[in-house]
Amino acid sequence: MHIFSQDDASARAGAWLTVNLKAIADNYDLVAGLGAGAECAAVVKADAYGLGAAQIAQTLAARGAETFFVAHLDEGMTLRETLPHARIFVLHGFMPDCESRMQAHGLTPVLNSLDQVRSWKQLCERAGQTLAAALQFDSGMSRFGLSVEDLAERNLFEGLNLQLVMSHLACADVPDSPANEMQRQRFVTMAAAFPGVPRSLAASSGIFLGPDYHFELIRPGAALYGIAPSEGHRILAPVVSLDARIAQIRTIQPGDRVGYGLSWTASKPTRIGTLGLGYADGFFRAQAGQASVWHGQTRLPVIGRVSMDSISVDLTDAPADLKAGDVLSVLGPQQDVDALARSAGTIGYEVLTSLGSRFHRVYAPAG
Ligand SMILES: *Cc1c(COP(=O)(O)O)cnc(C)c1O
Repeated sequence: MHIFSQDDASARAGAWLTVNLKAIADNYDLVAGLGAGAECAAVVKADAYGLGAAQIAQTLAARGAETFFVAHLDEGMTLRETLPHARIFVLHGFMPDCESRMQAHGLTPVLNSLDQVRSWKQLCERAGQTLAAALQFDSGMSRFGLSVEDLAERNLFEGLNLQLVMSHLACADVPDSPANEMQRQRFVTMAAAFPGVPRSLAASSGIFLGPDYHFELIRPGAALYGIAPSEGHRILAPVVSLDARIAQIRTIQPGDRVGYGLSWTASKPTRIGTLGLGYADGFFRAQAGQASVWHGQTRLPVIGRVSMDSISVDLTDAPADLKAGDVLSVLGPQQDVDALARSAGTIGYEVLTSLGSRFHRVYAPAG
């Protein structure tokens, strides 16, 4: 466990999240290497999956990333302040009548519907410029993008300054799902209507499906942040650790109970540690009875219900001299984001993006 900054906030914090920028940059290099031949963009939506878009985008730009993706217009406006020159795609395009904001901030919309295409063309006419845009196709997920029928409106697409055509895979985390090849073929067919425009299909898991899925641009998000592309796949560097100081220790007696609903009952004298993180910090309430934290190599079960601001830990197996202020590991060498997610019945993506903004954050520099 490293604390990289010993300022006052670090000393006061009950729990802190360490984001290892070097690990993120190394993951970028690894993924970019897998996609050699394709440009490697970086997806930094949702505040870079909760880890801090500004710091991460700067780190990745310094490693050579030139293209970034966010989901919302406002995320793009914020990112533009950090990266004045990068190419920024906005995955959701824009809400009706908001397209001029896109232009004002030099953002490139991903146009998902015929209405968005029309609005963008009208904006270009008003501006007297062919402003850059991307097109998304629905290749089977029925979420965002133009359908095969939409593409029949051939005239509408003339005169667009297209930087990218893209689609998104629904089952890339299941490498042998037949849906992957089916979507790939549909994408190739739809993209053929736009010869010469760079193509992008693969997010993190798709990149690991192999070169057939890379086309001209890959767009990893999760892989940069150390989330495994599929079950059991571990080649990416872990990026976050979460450490918590013990706020209070008590010993309870057989029959004493713990937490809301008094749902946990001691069967023997038990030392209980209280940690100051709870469901408001992204430690899911559904994790009650499943999750653990760690002292070194020793697993310490979380007992009773998860409160908004605290959890209780059974310290039976911890050293007897453990005291308030000592540090336990929530995310670290013994338990990565994916493992914690499994104990909550969810995926690493949800754990990462839920880790609240309340934690004190420490950024370990990329060096
Ligand atoms: C979120 C997202 C990505 C990145 O996905 P990861 O699985 O995190 O790599 C790429 N493309 C689109 C369209 C997305 O919505």
